[in-house]
Amino acid sequence: MSIKDNLLMVRESLNNAAIKAGRSAEDVELMAVSKTKPLAMLMEAYEAGQRVFGENRVPEAHDKAVQLPSDVRLEMIGHLQSNKLNTAVETFSCIQTLDSVKLAEKLESRCLSTNRKMDVLLQLKTSDEISKTGLTSFEMLLETVQVLSAMSCLSIRGLMTIAPFSDDEVVVRKAFAHCREARDKLAAQFPEQDFSRLSMGMTSDFEWAVQEGSTQVRIGSAIFGVRS
Ligand SMILES: *Cc1c(COP(=O)(O)O)cnc(C)c1O
Repeated sequence: MSIKDNLLMVRESLNNAAIKAGRSAEDVELMAVSKTKPLAMLMEAYEAGQRVFGENRVPEAHDKAVQLPSDVRLEMIGHLQSNKLNTAVETFSCIQTLDSVKLAEKLESRCLSTNRKMDVLLQLKTSDEISKTGLTSFEMLLETVQVLSAMSCLSIRGLMTIAPFSDDEVVVRKAFAHCREARDKLAAQFPEQDFSRLSMGMTSDFEWAVQEGSTQVRIGSAIFGVRS
């Protein structure tokens, strides 16, 4: 199967998932997660119409970004370390993994001094797995939104989460629902902010994420094959 075929299949499954959830397929964006994959594979996806890509390592993403067509949108889906922040600001149009006030302050400062704007999603931790980062409570989300509200370069666009690694539908959907409910509460409390995006769902759980209101699924292996 070519990447083009894989993309067609994923888009069709995504359409079906949207219809099943009583939603419109246009309301769920497909991100192609291209981490660890060579530029040629991204270009194959690009030729097949894909424009939004997700990467989790800053140097790798930057290398790709400078070689990709200018209408590609690259978004950061891995944990952002502050020593990589300057390059991250040049590389990504959105940081999906904002997980501390400190990181927000550093990003804002860099964006101010380089005259850039940056979209951010607040990452909510909905899993007990220690390897997963993110804000762990609603109070932490609140505090971060309050700080971000006063910033001029960073724009909140919504929330992102990684569900527990499980094939139990109840467990996974509960995590997605928790993220959506936190988003709804924040949107009600901060009506002047944009909380329209919910980045939820990967290859193994995107149908459930769409059922729970995801507006962007992040699909890697179903498009590019398994990562070694
Ligand atoms: C790798 C990754 C994905 C894609 O995972 P697949 O199972 O290959 O679809 C999605 N989101 C995040 C945050 C990732 O790190």
